[in-house]
Amino acid sequence: MFEISELKVIAEQMECSLQGKVIASGVMGNSPHKFVWYNRKGEEYASLVKGKRIGATHLMGRWLGLDLEPGYRFVFGEMGGKILLHPEAGEIPKKYHLLLNFTDGTALSVVIGLWGGLELYEAGEELKRDYIRDMAPTPLDPAFSREYFMELVQKAAQKGKRSVKSLLTQEQTLPGLGNSVAQEIMFRARLNPKRNIQELGEPELLLLHDIILQVVNEIIAKGGRSDEMDLYGKAGGYQRLMHSKAVGKPCPACGTAVQSMQYLGGACYFCPSCQK
Ligand SMILES: [Zn+2]
Repeated sequence: MFEISELKVIAEQMECSLQGKVIASGVMGNSPHKFVWYNRKGEEYASLVKGKRIGATHLMGRWLGLDLEPGYRFVFGEMGGKILLHPEAGEIPKKYHLLLNFTDGTALSVVIGLWGGLELYEAGEELKRDYIRDMAPTPLDPAFSREYFMELVQKAAQKGKRSVKSLLTQEQTLPGLGNSVAQEIMFRARLNPKRNIQELGEPELLLLHDIILQVVNEIIAKGGRSDEMDLYGKAGGYQRLMHSKAVGKPCPACGTAVQSMQYLGGACYFCPSCQK
């Protein structure tokens, strides 16, 4: 699944390589997929995108908006898979869930992995959509300061017991983060996924805030995680420390064997010595 760092990389690449291209034709998909969310019928989609010019991108957590000028915005939502720019039409994958052919002979294809939204809105209407509406500041927003984070955690802690993993990945408290980046953050902050946030003191919270920013920005600087592809089909350079293949291997910090556990809708990989 793309998280905020990969979408930031792809958004910048779109601004660089897609902006100004004119859509010759659009196809909503040629391969049925139960968990792709469309908000238009195929014919409507094809007629709306034809002749539109690619404009700016808008990053909203794990949602990426792409302007189709005039008047429309395409939204890639909470998706995993590939968003690829093809220099030549011959490279388009056989099965895809979205295709834009441009007048210069290049094309953009989207192939969804497990799930994802591919939605076309009149520009501005996407802001009314569930999950985008009232989105809290993401770690890439200037508003995501230490003060903001302290207040956010205090409010969350007042509502009752809540774990670090829940804070990082649930209820869009910190939009843009998912399971994968949360593992890296919890390891570097030396926090167990189940640790109750009510028990964390100010120094631990400030460290957690700084590490969230560090990890998110480091992944961007390296072009995304190594198991995700960018717009040009290139794998990212960020190697995850805590993932399924690390289980049973020595922790990079202390040498204890890395463990896994099922917790909050997915596996957690962690060092039982470092992460208390
Ligand atoms: Zn360790």
